[in-house]
Amino acid sequence: MEQHQNYIDGQWVVPESKKYYQTHNPASPQQVLGKFPASAAADVDAAIAAAEAARDAWGDMPAPQRAAILLRFSQLLADSRNELARIITLEQGKALSESVGEVARAAAEASFAAGEALRLSGQTFPSERPGFTCYTVLEPLGVVAAITPWNFPVVSPVRKIVPALACGNTVVFKPSSLTPWSAVYLTTLLDKAGLPPGVLNLAIGPSSAGERLISDVRVTGISFTGSTTVGIHIYERASSRMAKVQLELGGKNPAIVLDCQDLDGAAGEIVAAAFLCSGQRCTALSRVIVQDSLADVLVQRLLAHMKKIRVGNGLEPETTMGPLVSRQQMETVTAYVRMGIEGEAKLITGGNLLVDDPENQGYFHAPTLFDHVTSESPLANEEIFGPVLPVIRVSDAEQAFQFANSTRYGLAASLFTQNSQLVHEFIKRVKSGMVHVNHGTASQAHIPFGGVKDSGQGAYSIGPTVKEAFTNLKTVYVRW
Ligand code: NAD
Repeated sequence: MEQHQNYIDGQWVVPESKKYYQTHNPASPQQVLGKFPASAAADVDAAIAAAEAARDAWGDMPAPQRAAILLRFSQLLADSRNELARIITLEQGKALSESVGEVARAAAEASFAAGEALRLSGQTFPSERPGFTCYTVLEPLGVVAAITPWNFPVVSPVRKIVPALACGNTVVFKPSSLTPWSAVYLTTLLDKAGLPPGVLNLAIGPSSAGERLISDVRVTGISFTGSTTVGIHIYERASSRMAKVQLELGGKNPAIVLDCQDLDGAAGEIVAAAFLCSGQRCTALSRVIVQDSLADVLVQRLLAHMKKIRVGNGLEPETTMGPLVSRQQMETVTAYVRMGIEGEAKLITGGNLLVDDPENQGYFHAPTLFDHVTSESPLANEEIFGPVLPVIRVSDAEQAFQFANSTRYGLAASLFTQNSQLVHEFIKRVKSGMVHVNHGTASQAHIPFGGVKDSGQGAYSIGPTVKEAFTNLKTVYVRW
């Protein structure tokens, strides 16, 4: 079994504590995948020190040179698509086709973000006084912490690391402890692309390593993707020392179906967006809000599409949905499902684990559909992060929009309709960072991505908004 290391100041290094932990394949939990550093305070401190030492030289490097290194990385990423996808599936569980798609998407985002190094432009202003030139420039924040979850172990880090580096920052990367192998692989590619020592540092370990990172005054920017609970905690810590944050948090994304003639098409889109990655996506459609008169047919169409899902080991070619990522995630999902079964909702399909002994056979949960879920139910309001889709029936559009806005979250929302009036009302009224009409919640590799309410804070990631996340604005007055 391979023993992996942290990457600090351009070297693969043994953690100070010499402590390691093992990771497991969620499709076969007895299979150990590797040993990874359980970084403690001293390791995080060393990573921050290296990032700080490298900061000025990297920030001063001509932007085209930074962009060239990052473009090389995006090409290396695209070239290693199959090898890296296999690692994602082994440690995260998702179907191999999804993992291949994730790496391709990360490479596309990286190539766009690399170019942002060349688009770090400011503005010029006419002066109200004669003899002045007035303009703004964008400057790096300094040392940025990139803290990522387990559900997209490649896209999520790349979405932070590449734009942060393009903008001239150095980075300390703390991946989820469930998916460190992808992080090691990504770091190897960044090293190969030619990053100078200290520009990117990898500290693998538990949440306490992340806590150390966000608490250090030398870290002047924090880009975090993860749960809302941890995000709020990070926001509080960061604000106490005015560090800049970009927080990408949870969601409870509605699919609203109103005045819709293509219920089969809508159901196909909803099922794909709800069950990809076993529902463990921040933008997963995780509640259906449908007008009463369409509900019976829609539920039947959802069921028909769900029957096509093939649950199994993600490495097997026929698999379209893998296991849940961990025992803990499995227990969370089964607790919500039990709540649904014991409550007033009607279970349409699923509701069970697919194996008798998950610790040996994998954390496989059946795709699950509940109908007649009330708007007050936890199933309709809380982020389950699993293959569970509740259907909430409403009398009209007014009630649909009201329910859509009634959770704490505001990440993504979809509307399925052929009624143009409703389209405009939906776009205007739904409090959500991203809205989609007549398709699921798929985003694109160069378009801003983010949420409002408890789903996010700070500038959106992906696309041109990353410059706002990873730079400070400086205003300049020059008297001739
Ligand atoms: P999590 O919040 O438990 O952990 C995320 C990361 O934060 C991990 O690396 C973890 O070790 C670290 N961490 C935990 N406590 C910390 C602390 N006190 N200080 C610093 N770092 C700490 O989330 P998770 O379970 O890994 O991921 C699932 C969550 O991520 C879901 O809520 C999901 O919606 C969210 N997510 C959001 C987006 C988005 O773009 N909005 C994308 C993917 C996932």
